[in-house]
Amino acid sequence: MKENLVIAIDGFSSCGKSTVAKQLARHLGYIYVDTGAMYRAVTLFCMRNHLIDNDGNVSADALESVINTIDIKFTCDKPTAKNTTWLNGENVEDEIRRIEVSDKVSYVSRIGFVRSRMVSLQQQMGVQGGIVMDGRDIGTVVFPNADLKIFMTASPEVRAQRRYDELTAKGETVTFSQILENVNQRDYLDQHREIAPLRQADDAKVLDNSNLTREEQFALILQMVEEARKE
Ligand code: C5P
Repeated sequence: MKENLVIAIDGFSSCGKSTVAKQLARHLGYIYVDTGAMYRAVTLFCMRNHLIDNDGNVSADALESVINTIDIKFTCDKPTAKNTTWLNGENVEDEIRRIEVSDKVSYVSRIGFVRSRMVSLQQQMGVQGGIVMDGRDIGTVVFPNADLKIFMTASPEVRAQRRYDELTAKGETVTFSQILENVNQRDYLDQHREIAPLRQADDAKVLDNSNLTREEQFALILQMVEEARKE
């Protein structure tokens, strides 16, 4: 039986990857890493430092000169299991989830030097195993030899509804069509970028959760973990 697996969960935006990855990490006593939060934090850094305009044009030279100094960390509060993302020592967990950041993140995440920096940080975090990492390129680029690769998907409408419910519950003023447009736009940009586009790894197990309850989904994932332990 294998211990300390590396588990890669990839898929489209807002299909519940991070919820299930977090739940799985807690269940197994593993580290959880939300790689989307890292690209979001770099995007927020760009927005605050005027390194990106409203059309998504990034001042690449200026960003490249500071990319290695941007400090991104995660902490997890054990009793509540709440994860926090820190950007240069500041708690940015709520801010990186805002629609303004979602609208720009795919322009930042498609830049080669941003990706190499994030991928190298992610690989360092996974060196010991015992990790669940979610993102777009975890099974294809970050951990091509992961013990278990899951590719999650759901229809764009189901995903947009979930994100809409999440944001309105936090008091953000957004419309469903605005969210659906963002989901579709990010799917397109993430799948069509030149470097590490979102795609299913050949050896990934597909999980379409459009019509699954959280419990059904988690039971399926636990079965996948059990199989991966035996391999
Ligand atoms: O997962 P989340 O929706 O928070 O990711 C935000 C964005 O970060 C994605 O739309 C994608 O552009 C980028 N991303 C990426 N590679 C990853 C994780 C996220 O390019 N591994």
